[in-house]
Amino acid sequence: MDPRRLDAGLTRRTDVLVVGGGPAGTSAAISCALNGLTVVLCERELFPRERVGEALHPGVEGLLDQLGLAGRLGEVTGARFDGAEVDWAGDRRFVPFGSDAAGPWRGFQVRRAAFDALLLERARALGVEVLNPCGALDPIVETGRAAGATTEAGDVRARLLIDASGPARWLERKLGLARRERSPQLVVRYGYVRGRLPDRDLRPLIHGDTDGWTWIACVEPGRYQWVRLDLSETARNRDWRPAGLAGLAPEGPSRGAEMGWRLTTPAGPGWMLAGDAAAMLDPTSSHGVLKALLSGRLAGATAAAMLNGGDEAQGLAAYRQWMEGWFTTDVAALRSLYRRLGAPWAI
Ligand SMILES: Cc1cc2nc3c(=O)[nH]c(=O)nc-3n(C[C@H](O)[C@H](O)[C@H](O)COP(=O)(O)OP(=O)(O)OC[C@H]3O[C@@H](n4cnc5c(N)ncnc54)[C@H](O)[C@@H]3O)c2cc1C
Repeated sequence: MDPRRLDAGLTRRTDVLVVGGGPAGTSAAISCALNGLTVVLCERELFPRERVGEALHPGVEGLLDQLGLAGRLGEVTGARFDGAEVDWAGDRRFVPFGSDAAGPWRGFQVRRAAFDALLLERARALGVEVLNPCGALDPIVETGRAAGATTEAGDVRARLLIDASGPARWLERKLGLARRERSPQLVVRYGYVRGRLPDRDLRPLIHGDTDGWTWIACVEPGRYQWVRLDLSETARNRDWRPAGLAGLAPEGPSRGAEMGWRLTTPAGPGWMLAGDAAAMLDPTSSHGVLKALLSGRLAGATAAAMLNGGDEAQGLAAYRQWMEGWFTTDVAALRSLYRRLGAPWAI
């Protein structure tokens, strides 16, 4: 049943309203629910829905354990890998994730539609009211603080609003929040091919040259993903594919996404941002989902501390400091990588 038609006249009341059902939103909702808060989550796209961003750092496994999904990652994993072949500015070597007494750490290539649905189901099982499909329309702002949102399923009045709307940046646009840009516009193109590419079955490859970089990875047996970021203004057309994939069958035309580095003010009175809605970096490091889960979890824990009697100003300040700290560290690391490719703006 479509909640837009069912409940449009209803006003819900909850501790926390989460906007967006990706890894950041579900991780925030689960963390709030585990801490005894009532939560409504609205997601505008009908689940399961496709998403790019399949390569996950091994650290995601421990995070999922903490969210109550121990042992479930295998259900949504298409391939495993222990690091990547990195061919950067002429220096080619294998970069492993690391290892311990049990052996090498291994990352995951997940099917994002299934991965995101697994997290959403966990939230639902903990009592989170999931409105799907249901878009958030406008924030409700009273005496200078967020107090919920109007949605396609009616008003949701909340003590705290967590925006995890990803690249849509719903709250930033609605409230005109300040944003810091730390790179020029960076457009990535990406696509999928089917066939056989034995060299990539065990390890992804990232190749960086003076024009940009190309990533090729096996996402599940017989299916490969490529991503291309150009530093020059050269526009790739929708039929372009990396030369190494000639002979494999493309799954439709490629797609594009703008991924310039930016940080939006991460928190304010009655609201917090998590995941890509707060901070965006291009996918060189493949850490987008990890950071979305981490920031969602931290937003949830901070929400619980504040709503259970803690000091809101202190909680929001600590969250802002954490988000700004990791963004600054990651930007410095990415700049040094792009400097090696000769990008003038990274010098
Ligand atoms: C080409 C490419 C390759 C990438 N590769 C990797 C990779 O290998 N590894 C990795 O970790 N990351 C990768 N990423 C990044 C990764 O996809 C993101 O960092 C991650 O999905 C962010 O999660 P999120 O929950 O913040 O946002 P999303 O996953 O984008 O979820 C946001 C959700 O909010 C919903 N929404 C938006 N507006 C509204 C609204 N008004 N009301 C209700 N719902 C709304 C959307 O429908 C969406 O479901 C890649 C990204 C790109 C573009």
